[in-house]
Amino acid sequence: FEFLHISKNYEGENAVRDISFSLVSGEHTALIGPSGCGKSTTLRLLAGLEVPSKGEILMDGRVVSKANRILEPPHVRGLGMVFQDLALWPNLSVMDNVLLGLSSERLPRNEIRERAGQALTLCGVESLASRKPGSLSGGQQQRVALARAIAPRPDFLLLDEPFSDLDLVSKMKLLEEISALTANQKLTTILVTHDPLEAKILCRFAIVLSAGHIEE
Ligand code: ADP
Ligand code: MG
Repeated sequence: FEFLHISKNYEGENAVRDISFSLVSGEHTALIGPSGCGKSTTLRLLAGLEVPSKGEILMDGRVVSKANRILEPPHVRGLGMVFQDLALWPNLSVMDNVLLGLSSERLPRNEIRERAGQALTLCGVESLASRKPGSLSGGQQQRVALARAIAPRPDFLLLDEPFSDLDLVSKMKLLEEISALTANQKLTTILVTHDPLEAKILCRFAIVLSAGHIEE
């Protein structure tokens, strides 16, 4: 992915302004900065969930977003995302949440089930498959959201402050597991965080945002 002079305005306010960067394939990058500096907006622009006001976003040299237009929608960008609020469906079981993440894959039913099971196993929550998200701890819910994101075998894993509700010990454990998982699945991760320690543990590169622009 490459951002070229990207700006995003909401009702005249600049959430991000004139940011340019490129992500190194196969390397993890942190998007770091205080609350409100434009981290989630940047991640959503990358995913194709927001349309830029100015600039271009490239993927393998192709323009995928430009001013006021999405040329390649989220589902063809090869990415899995864990949202800040996790966005699990409360009325669906853990398994059905993961199956929903696979619903756009054109695969036979049994293979879809197998992939969902594998993703749950990789994230250590296979025994919770029939439970509802509301009956799980915060850490377990984070793992389910992670399983749903990786089940379609994306090239990119986008994590929006997925550890903010975890205690330090659980956070470190999950970070280590994600490190192993992403190496194993050859995933390029983009981690949004306000915590430099998280960034340092998982990522070799960091983009520091401040009030909508790149500081470092
Ligand atoms: P961060 O994730 O770093 O906390 P965000 O990207 O969520 O920051 O937000 C950056 C700025 O854009 C904030 O001032 C926020 O209020 C504003 N913003 C984000 N999303 C919207 C939206 N949908 N409508 C209006 N303003 C928004
Ligand atoms: Mg945010």
